Amino acid sequence: MNFAQKHLTSLLRRMSLDATLFWSLENIRYLCGFTGSDGALIYADEERIFLSDSRYEEQARVEVKGAVFQEYKKKIEGIAQVLRSLRVKRLGFEASALSWESYQRLKERLPRVNLVPLAGEMAALRARKEPDEVEKIRRAIGIASESFRDTLPRLKPGVREKTVGDFLEFRMKHRGGESSSFPVIVASGARAALPHGKASAKGIEKKEMVVIDFGARYEGYHSDETKTVVLGKPEFRQRKIYDLVRKAQERAMRAIRPGESVRRIDNAAREIITRAGYGKFFGHATGHGIGLAVHEAPTISPRGSGVVKEGMIFSIEPGIYLPGWGGVRLEDLVLVTARGCEVLTYLSKELKDNILMG
Ligand code: ZN
Ligand code: ZN
Repeated sequence: MNFAQKHLTSLLRRMSLDATLFWSLENIRYLCGFTGSDGALIYADEERIFLSDSRYEEQARVEVKGAVFQEYKKKIEGIAQVLRSLRVKRLGFEASALSWESYQRLKERLPRVNLVPLAGEMAALRARKEPDEVEKIRRAIGIASESFRDTLPRLKPGVREKTVGDFLEFRMKHRGGESSSFPVIVASGARAALPHGKASAKGIEKKEMVVIDFGARYEGYHSDETKTVVLGKPEFRQRKIYDLVRKAQERAMRAIRPGESVRRIDNAAREIITRAGYGKFFGHATGHGIGLAVHEAPTISPRGSGVVKEGMIFSIEPGIYLPGWGGVRLEDLVLVTARGCEVLTYLSKELKDNILMG
């Protein structure tokens, strides 16, 4: 039994659940290894049953560990049948994954079963990574970062944002990534003021700053990193904003240790930016957990709750976005260690290393 399974079993007991129904593909993959695109996992104290339709029988036989496969013709009916045979009376389910419609249909077929929504419990389990998960994230980072290096020679005045983004995505696949973690963000000049500026047809110009946010997926695990580069010698204001964001990022990283609250880590970065008068131009969270999902627990934000724990991996990504001018965001992934954190992403975030001449 691995870490997650052990904790899940004790969670089941604590909440007096006879079983839990897993619906989200990420949790299903996390718990039994299935990577296909449809199925459900019933996790009881003794039994683990993975259900899917006949298309996935062969794949399930190869991939699924620690659960028996059962085929269904109709998903809800098949699940209800198994739950009846297990005599489940209290069933946990993933509140954020099961649709209202599926919930209603399940309820109709199991009128005497008490359905108990689970919210943060699984997220908390997944937040702490096991060594093999850390390894996969490191691989994803390696693929993405080396692909970024491959792309640098193409970052020249005149090139379109989209051409840069497409090439980066192509390189990530070429280097063994399953896919891009998300459509690569390339936002240049004034467009860099859009925190999620999807790569557009705009041409990148001399002296502009360009925010590039990218990541690769490797064996289901994601990376996420943001570089901001300047095409030419940075102007006073570009330097000032960049240095401020870099300082905020470093402060947040220095605040990380097991037991520290997510709010205080967020505040370590936010305080630097707010004191300099740019607080209202940093509108998003300082960071987010990452793993099988690009965004998962913990959330490092002023509204976040709880503390960070050894083994968690999350981003530290402060930014300043000035409408009409542009923006800077710097994002690295960190692993919480016994005494602090290890920065997993390795591309330099120092301004001097992000000036592109020529
Ligand atoms: Zn990102
Ligand atoms: Zn991110």
